[in-house]
Amino acid sequence: MELADIREDLAEELISEQQLHDKLGELARQIETDYDGRDILLVGVLRGAVMVMADLARSLRRHIEMDWMAVSSYGSGTVSSGVVRILKDLDTDISGRHVLIVEDIIDSGLTLSWLRQNLISRGAATVEICTMLRKPDALKVEVDVKYCGFDIPNKFVIGYGLDYAEKYRNLRGVGVLAPHVYGGEE
Ligand code: 5GP
Ligand code: MG
Ligand code: MG
Repeated sequence: MELADIREDLAEELISEQQLHDKLGELARQIETDYDGRDILLVGVLRGAVMVMADLARSLRRHIEMDWMAVSSYGSGTVSSGVVRILKDLDTDISGRHVLIVEDIIDSGLTLSWLRQNLISRGAATVEICTMLRKPDALKVEVDVKYCGFDIPNKFVIGYGLDYAEKYRNLRGVGVLAPHVYGGEE
């Protein structure tokens, strides 16, 4: 049987594994400084943030706790609507806690702006956002992001947790899918 290499489905690699790793190191040093003397609860947004969470958490040289949420934004296909449903809630009582939301990507910003309000309303002491990627040209609502890895062009990207039809999350870098994969023009 021929082994298909998923990297061959990339039209272009935008960010390499090494660049992701280096950037997370920088963000981790900032977070260590900013949260000096305070506890941190990292809240990962399933499923895309799994890789960012694993690498960010291990880049931090201090104690942290982790919890997870899964949310789905109603909307047609790839367009998010801003109406968010909680599929899996936190197991942690966050009142008085310093919450740092860990995300893969901010596109329209609708999901995160809803999520931040939701966590603030539960009485968290602080709620900040760390995202690996952001598409500034796609933003529909202003989201105050304290830690951002890379601003990227307004293209559909995959890898490092991000999927196309639930696949490609295990690519080590971030890239753009080749058109032949979804039946587009080369
Ligand atoms: P937002 O509410 O910011 O528009 O949506 C954010 C969510 O949409 C992300 O957490 C991610 O699941 C999905 N998303 C947005 N842009 C992309 C993209 O370029 N590639 C992939 N795979 N998912 C994306
Ligand atoms: Mg996400
Ligand atoms: Mg997805």
